[in-house]
Amino acid sequence: MTDTPAETAQPSFRSDVTVELVKHTAGDSDVLWAARVSTAGEQSLEELSKDPERSKGLINYLMRDRHGSPFEHNSMTFFISAPIFVFREFMRHRVGWSYNEESGRYRELQPVFYVPGADRKLVQQGRPGKYVFVDGTAEQQKLVTEAMEVSYRRSYETYQEMLAAGVAREVARAVLPVGLFSSMYATCNARSLMHFLGLRTQHEEASVPSFPQREIEMVGEKMEKHWAQLMPLTYAAFNANGRVAP
Ligand SMILES: Cc1cc2nc3c(=O)[nH]c(=O)nc-3n(C[C@H](O)[C@H](O)[C@H](O)COP(=O)(O)OP(=O)(O)OC[C@H]3O[C@@H](n4cnc5c(N)ncnc54)[C@H](O)[C@@H]3O)c2cc1C
Repeated sequence: MTDTPAETAQPSFRSDVTVELVKHTAGDSDVLWAARVSTAGEQSLEELSKDPERSKGLINYLMRDRHGSPFEHNSMTFFISAPIFVFREFMRHRVGWSYNEESGRYRELQPVFYVPGADRKLVQQGRPGKYVFVDGTAEQQKLVTEAMEVSYRRSYETYQEMLAAGVAREVARAVLPVGLFSSMYATCNARSLMHFLGLRTQHEEASVPSFPQREIEMVGEKMEKHWAQLMPLTYAAFNANGRVAP
């Protein structure tokens, strides 16, 4: 009996990112409890609803005056699947973050690649710090999609050729591009997430505008949606105070 070689996965192309909230212990009550450092009763959610105006006022005061540490007593773990170039930017955020990413040494990397969607602005105008991005032409859109797909297919074939010849995964992966999707768990707290969102999203309420790459912003926007549901008072205070992390 001969072994049938495992079928090689065919490249697939994505224009979106995945963000799932897999675990959390995070609520506005964690901020209040930490700020008040008082009775055990303060830890309960009931306390929050007893005097909502006082709770809202306290959180807003902490945010406005940048008393940051009460926003650290909570935890959110996200599963994120995004291109490697996004992770490269993401992991620059060192403080209040923990990361674990899939390995290209211990497993064969799957051929899922990023191709910008039709709504992704393709052309950069202006000088550094003053960029604006504008839509590409239909020809540019076609070129980007086709050129990326051809290039991705070629590099994945080369990766497979080397694996088939017995070359180690950690060596063969060198030919794979930064548009390849990777996955990771990222754990943070509200304070570190606010710092991330202040830098990696554009928002009309930001008092200090930032100019992030669109793809990391797509990840940030999805994380923000989850967080807003978990900590609505903190989220409102973040926006009301110019989206600057305390
Ligand atoms: C739009 C944009 C463009 C960028 N372009 C580039 C680029 O071209 N090249 C590049 O290399 N990076 C670039 N970056 C990354 C940027 O320089 C930061 O590394 C990244 O935004 C993480 O920010 P941070 O260091 O504040 O976050 P964290 O690492 O999470 O740190 C949080 C805070 O802790 C404090 N802190 C952390 N470490 C230290 C330390 N060693 N010493 C003193 N204080 C510390 C600081 O107050 C810091 O703000 C860019 C970021 C953005 C948002």
